[in-house]
Amino acid sequence: MTDIIVVGGGCAGLTAALYAARAGKSVLVFEAENIGGQITASPQVDNYPGIPHVSGMQFADSLFEQVTELGVAIELDSVLRIEDTAQGKTVITENGSYTCKAVILATGSRHRTLGLPREEELTGRGISYCAVCDGAFYKDCEVAVAGGGNTAVSDALYLSSICKSVTVIHRRDAFRADASLLRRAEAKSNIRWMTSAVPEELLGGDSLTGIRVRSTKTGELSDIPADALFVAVGQIPENTAFSGMVATDGTGYLLAGEDCSTNVDGIYAAGDCRTKTVRQLTTAVADGANAAMAAVDCVSCMEQQK
Ligand code: NAP
Repeated sequence: MTDIIVVGGGCAGLTAALYAARAGKSVLVFEAENIGGQITASPQVDNYPGIPHVSGMQFADSLFEQVTELGVAIELDSVLRIEDTAQGKTVITENGSYTCKAVILATGSRHRTLGLPREEELTGRGISYCAVCDGAFYKDCEVAVAGGGNTAVSDALYLSSICKSVTVIHRRDAFRADASLLRRAEAKSNIRWMTSAVPEELLGGDSLTGIRVRSTKTGELSDIPADALFVAVGQIPENTAFSGMVATDGTGYLLAGEDCSTNVDGIYAAGDCRTKTVRQLTTAVADGANAAMAAVDCVSCMEQQK
């Protein structure tokens, strides 16, 4: 039996594993696809205290190394559900079932789509959800970014150094993105801004050639040329597998406070998958530490009761 199973190998999950392993507990991490999680798609992280500039990939790589050096096992496998048993918890994955004393859910979130006709068909042929992964394919091209948060604006900045021009299409006049990030993007001469506007139609045949944009103020339509549209309109939590067991809010986030405990004894929620107001790398890793310490306490109590 493992002491603690962590579901999700993003920065929250890996930090939880780090703290739990350093507290002397055995830890197994399950990650469905991308070790390091969402931060690996951030070209540059400038707001992590003590590390002025680091790429998301570098940060994730060194966290992974730090965790595996401590003997934490990381399996690429999808967790399907969790069951309460007399011994503790059973975690059922696509490839097996594993018992443990406590579980930390750090499943993160996935990209929201625009829901436009042909969006799925054109994914990989002009539509992308990851500027870092796909930006290089559009060297010297005209591209667009949809969204007004930190992801959209940092994607626009990143793309501005590769592409001929970047048009940011945002549905409001005000941006959610941090003011300092916005200032840096506004200083770039090849970033254009279309505010109070939304993509209405994707133009082109086999691949994207342009976007029909609708003004949210006047309803007026205009076509802009674009070889790619990077969609950065937020996230949806990845909690459906656990929503029958662990309480969630109306939008699917796991209900858990600062101590990361959920309504189920022995199950903790950390990072972007839980209810919170600020979803940042710093808050994800803070959750990882809090959830791990709570899970370690839970495991120690179970051991004392034996
Ligand atoms: P976000 O902050 O939720 O922003 C999503 C943006 O997409 C908003 O501007 C939103 O518009 C817009 N949007 C949502 N649905 C839309 C739709 N259907 N059509 C058009 N526009 C739509 O998401 P995010 O930028 O991915 O960031 C997620 C979290 O990660 C945030 O907490 C962010 O701070 C953090 N993050 C941090 C960094 C960093 O620290 N370097 C980098 C990236 C992300 P409205 O504003 O009108 O709602």
